[in-house]
Amino acid sequence: MGTAGEERGGDAAGMRRALAAARRNLLRADGGPFGACILRGGRVIAAARNTILLRRDPTCHAEVNAIRLAARRLGTHELAGCTICSTTEPCPMCFAAIHWAGIGRIVYGTRIADVARLGFRELTVSNRMLRRLGGCQVLLVGGVLREECRALLRDWERLRLPTY
Ligand SMILES: [Zn+2]
Repeated sequence: MGTAGEERGGDAAGMRRALAAARRNLLRADGGPFGACILRGGRVIAAARNTILLRRDPTCHAEVNAIRLAARRLGTHELAGCTICSTTEPCPMCFAAIHWAGIGRIVYGTRIADVARLGFRELTVSNRMLRRLGGCQVLLVGGVLREECRALLRDWERLRLPTY
């Protein structure tokens, strides 16, 4: 089971949680404008934001934080059957973490190319390319609440917060 479009309603709800997490960083300015949410069976398991500056840890991307939280809450490192919603297409580090967690679907709003244009030091390798090069079976669903995710980045840009 599990086609890319199957959980569309749940995807939007998960993306709204990811957006809410990311929006906290526009107020706190201790992490980038990125959020992630992990769902299983349409239920939110964990939502997290980027906390690089807060933790002084370059690996604290929203997706990695959400994976750590979901694994703790579910009591397992295996997140098979889960979907991750990310406000921006996951970077290669997060894509690899998602792979290691066994997450089956990646849902995202804006693309890596969108944030690279804003000056983030992205490794500009798309999830589609990583999937193909790595022989990964994860399902990709892009463009979910894309306008809301773009608005988040525009608001962040207006505040002239640092990129990292
Ligand atoms: Zn990342």
